[in-house]
Formats: sequence, C-alpha cells, structure tokens
Amino acid sequence: MSSQTQHIAIIGGGFCGIMTAVHLIENAKDPLKISLINCGYPLAKGVAFCTYTNTHLLNVVAGNMSAYPDKPNDFVDWAHKKKQYTSLEKDILAKTFLPRTLFGEYLEHIWNNAIAHKRETIEVSIIDDKAVDVEIGEDSVVVLLKSGKQVAANKLVLATGNAEPRDPAIPNTEFYSSPAYFRNPWKADSVTGLKNQHDVLVIGSGLTMVDTVLGLIENGFTKTIYSISPHGFGILQHRHGGTKYGNLDKEIQEPYELNNLVKTVHKHIRIVRELGLSAEPIIDSLRPHTQKIWQALTLKERRYFMSSKLRHLWGVARHRLPIHTHDHIQNLRIHGKLMVIAGNIKNIQEQPNAIVVSYYNRKLKKDETIIVERVINCTGPESSIKKSGNIILQNMWRRGIATADPLELGLNVDINSFKLIDKYGDKLNNVFTLGTNLRGMIWETTAVPELRGQADKLAKQLI
Ligand SMILES: Cc1cc2nc3c(=O)[nH]c(=O)nc-3n(C[C@H](O)[C@H](O)[C@H](O)COP(=O)(O)OP(=O)(O)OC[C@H]3O[C@@H](n4cnc5c(N)ncnc54)[C@H](O)[C@@H]3O)c2cc1C
Repeated sequence: MSSQTQHIAIIGGGFCGIMTAVHLIENAKDPLKISLINCGYPLAKGVAFCTYTNTHLLNVVAGNMSAYPDKPNDFVDWAHKKKQYTSLEKDILAKTFLPRTLFGEYLEHIWNNAIAHKRETIEVSIIDDKAVDVEIGEDSVVVLLKSGKQVAANKLVLATGNAEPRDPAIPNTEFYSSPAYFRNPWKADSVTGLKNQHDVLVIGSGLTMVDTVLGLIENGFTKTIYSISPHGFGILQHRHGGTKYGNLDKEIQEPYELNNLVKTVHKHIRIVRELGLSAEPIIDSLRPHTQKIWQALTLKERRYFMSSKLRHLWGVARHRLPIHTHDHIQNLRIHGKLMVIAGNIKNIQEQPNAIVVSYYNRKLKKDETIIVERVINCTGPESSIKKSGNIILQNMWRRGIATADPLELGLNVDINSFKLIDKYGDKLNNVFTLGTNLRGMIWETTAVPELRGQADKLAKQLI
C-alpha cells in the first residue's frame, strides 16, 4: 500500500461496523486500507445476533431485514436457500420472525463474501482489541488500543453500538460488583449456573427481559422470575401480519408540531379501532417520517416527549413481540412463574446466601421486599455518552472530541455528514459515527431497517 492510500479505522464490528466496511469494499475505486477494531462480541454478529439460543427471534419480519437498502429481498433469498426453509413459499418466509442467530450467520456470510471478492487494492485488517482512546490531528487519527498498540489512520468511524445498561440507582452501589449482579444481560452466563434456591430479579420489562426469561427457563430455572420496572408489563404482540395504513401520510405534513401530531395520530387510531384494528399499523406508517419529524421538533417538544407518557407509549407501540413468544410469556405470568411489577427499586443488599431487594410497589402503593439469588439488568443499552461504560466514548467525551446531544441520548453529530461535533461546536472532518450514537439527533436509529441506509450512505461519503 502506498503512502497515498486512504486508511479508515472503524471501531466496532457489529452490523454498523461491518456493513460500513462492506460498502467501502464494494465501492472503493482507489486503494484503501480498512482497520476494523472489534472486541466483546463476535465479528459481524454484534450484541443482537450472537445470542445464546434459537428461541430469541428477530423482532422484525424477515422481509424487512435485508442488510442492503437497495436489495430488499437479500435476507429472504439467502435464508430460502437454507435447507430448513427451502420448502416454504418465499412470501411466507418474508412474513416470518426468524431466529436472530440465523441473521448473525447471514451477516457473517456477507462479510466473508466481501472479503473473498475484494479488489487487490483494498487491504482489510481485523484487530481483536479494545479501542480505549483517540488522538485527532488535522487529517489524522490515532486510535490507542488496550494492548498498548496504536492504529494510525486518516479517518475514524465510531460504530460502537449497544453499551451495557446503566446500573440501577440504589444507595448500596457496592452491589454493582457482586457476582450475583449481571449488568450484561446479553451473554449466556446471565441465565446459567443458578442454584434454583431463590427467585431471580430481572430489572426492566422490555424485549431483553423477555429474552432473559426465555433463557432462564431453557436453562432449567424453576423458581419465580420477578420483573420490576416503573410501568410494568406493556409489551404488545405483532397482531397484523401485513396490514398497511396509508391514510395518515397525507396529514403528516410540515411544519411538524408535537401537539398536532399527537392529535392526528389519535384521530386515526380511533378510525382503525372502529374497523376492529389496533394502533400498530398507524405507528408503522409513521416510521418513514419519524427521523424527519424528530429533527423538526423544537428542543422543548423533544424534552416534553421524553419526559411525558408519550415516550413510554411510543416504546410499547414500536417494540413488539412475535405472537407465540408473547403467548409464552403471558402463560408464564398466568402460572405465576413470571411476576411483573410496576415499581421502583429502592435498594439491593447482599447477604451470605441471598440478595434482598426492596422496592416500592406502585399498584399497591407500599414498600415490599423479595429475596432473590440473582439480579439481571435488562433496562436496555445505555446511550448517554456521559454515563456510558465504553471507555473510548468516555475518553473522547473527556477530551471534548465527542459531545452529547442536548438531550444526552447519544452524540452531537452533523446528521447529513455523520461528522462528530466537538466541544467548540466544530464539525470534525475525520471522525464519523452511526447507529445508536445518533439517537438524540434522529431518535429512531436502532433496528436494521434504519441502520442499513446509514452504513451505505456513510461509506459512500467516506470515499
Ligand atoms: C438484544 C437485542 C436484540 C435486537 N434485536 C433486533 C432485531 O431483531 N432486529 C433488528 O433490526 N435490530 C435488533 N436490535 C438492534 C441492533 O442493535 C441493531 O440491529 C444492530 O445490530 C446494531 O449494530 P451495531 O453495530 O450498531 O452495534 P453492536 O451490535 O452493539 O456492535 C458493536 C460492536 O462494537 C464493539 N465495540 C464497542 N466499543 C468498542 C471498543 N471500544 N473497542 C472495540 N470494540 C468495541 C462491541 O463489543 C460490538 O462487538 C437488537 C438489539 C439488541 C440489544
């Protein structure tokens, strides 16, 4: 490689990191070097698609899970060639919620294929190490690794993805280092090795709680699982296999104003209810507009959205479960194996053979206590840079290279160019990000249907 060769370093080898690299490999005409720095989860699969059981399903139907924005059938076509699915009609497969592990295999296939067919002028090096800090020059970036090595590049892409959840706000912070506390709910050790002597507490009541409950049961846990969160259980099932609602589009027009939007959505929810339908097709029809709407709202409106019930309702409507998983969870609730409590955890104390959890039960309006063997944190990825446990983000924030967006949901980024904005309010010419780090800027930036376009656009911009 000549000294003229552009060198792009990417931190994170999950969906966003590898798909950015794949688009670079597929589109670069000039010599290019890519250094992909990844640790923690298997390359290509990331947190979501290296899961420990096949009962963890995608929460998006296969037909909407292509890794490419311009090849909508790519995942279904690939999955259809697998012997367990060849006999299925493709359009049925497209409406199916397939295992997340299968999607991980698909990403691995895309990655291996891109490497196998890359031009000779493109060099790719995979670095299995933790990026801990970064130094930024005019047109240079040096990434410092945990091993003490360094990667000097021209440009840097932060594809750091899902950070571990935030610890519960309890007075006894010593509990955070207890072996009975699992801050990371995505690894198999959080659901294995239980003694079955006491119950288990899962903090949170969203999709990761469901994954964890399935994992605990599969691994032979027989006692009661408690799920505690401020709102209790609110997960809906996917009830409409393909119902499309097109009547809202005409009325969702600029200038966007939160109160009017809420009123319009409610009006349409009443219309579909008259037809015996629930609100999900309406929420789905809003999806193509959400990023634009979020950017157009005033900071006051965004703040109101985040602090009011709207945020919770949006989350419930958006994060749905395949119907049979939903049934399974409800059956566990009916039989008392899963107890979902709307409440606030007040403290967690470790005793010789048990953990004592005290909480305020919002429904019963009183303090209660449970004794558990383990506490698993399923409150969802931490997106705030200030609270992130990811050392590279902490250090970039400390140095003022990365700053938080006004709501502290992610990073402050120029959304058209993906460039980070530093503490002086300047766009950095050589540091870019995508994925969950954009949450404060565009709100909906979690699932593959939102991320695939970002990876494609960013890669084309980089070259
Ligand atoms: C449990 C779960 C289930 C999900 N299910 C779905 C689904 O069904 N459908 C869907 O569309 N989306 C789903 N998502 C959303 C999912 O996060 C995205 O689809 C996508 O996988 C995110 O990819 P990513 O590359 O941004 O992040 P990640 O997958 O989190 O990958 C980031 C990678 O970067 C590494 N990394 C981070 N920091 C460093 C560092 N400092 N040094 C080195 N390496 C680093 C991490 O260890 C990880 O390997 C799910 C998310 C979760 C958490």
